[in-house]
Amino acid sequence: MMPAHDSTSAMETNTPLPPGMVLGPDGKPCRTCTDWKGWSKIGKAAKAKKESKDSGSTATATAAAAAAGAAGSAVNGSTSTSTFDYEAECPPDKEILGRATWTFLHTMAAYYPDKPSTQEQSTMKSLLSSFSQFYPCGPCAEHMQKEMKIDPPKVESRKELSWWMCGMHNKVNEMMGKDLFDCNKVDERWKDGPADGRCD
Ligand SMILES: Cc1cc2nc3c(=O)[nH]c(=O)nc-3n(C[C@H](O)[C@H](O)[C@H](O)COP(=O)(O)OP(=O)(O)OC[C@H]3O[C@@H](n4cnc5c(N)ncnc54)[C@H](O)[C@@H]3O)c2cc1C
Repeated sequence: MMPAHDSTSAMETNTPLPPGMVLGPDGKPCRTCTDWKGWSKIGKAAKAKKESKDSGSTATATAAAAAAGAAGSAVNGSTSTSTFDYEAECPPDKEILGRATWTFLHTMAAYYPDKPSTQEQSTMKSLLSSFSQFYPCGPCAEHMQKEMKIDPPKVESRKELSWWMCGMHNKVNEMMGKDLFDCNKVDERWKDGPADGRCD
């Protein structure tokens, strides 16, 4: 991933971007490249507070508190006054898109044939190549393409593809400072479920 642009200016407005915000190819803030939920919460609350300070009125201060609360509810998914669910109702940010995409990729690998035909191997290679071109988080896509050049997809069997995918995901985990996933558990996580049967 390219580093977050901490101090880039929005091309159209010349407004400084919030930390971590990334611009898309159109010069506008890229929702699918950003933890938008967190950014949106901070942005809405700060805007409401500023409006309150500017006007100095109690009524606006109350509105600001309400707006900040509403922003919080948008992020947290529930408050006493709202049942708004960001993930269910809003376009995905980088985190939601990432989780959904990894779910698809690992599950697809988990159900890939043990002995794929030459045609199936070739189709899987094209799918992964096309996917990495069109993944709608530009910096993520660039990183994925770079890693796939270094370590091309292993499509000879279900097990090889599942392990390769696990390795790719771990490269992203590592870059983000997250714990690495134990690839011995990839089938348990994405196909069979845990031995204690809690997912059955
Ligand atoms: C192709 C791709 C590239 C990405 N590149 C970037 C990037 O460059 N920068 C960035 O900030 N974000 C990137 N993301 C998003 C990022 O990987 C996460 O999806 C996002 O941060 C949400 O993380 P999470 O902790 O909720 O779980 P995720 O990392 O989304 O993982 C979802 C679940 O997968 C399981 N899991 C975790 N690791 C593995 C593994 N190695 N193998 C198998 N299963 C595993 C765990 O059970 C986990 O709960 C990318 C996503 C994708 C799909």
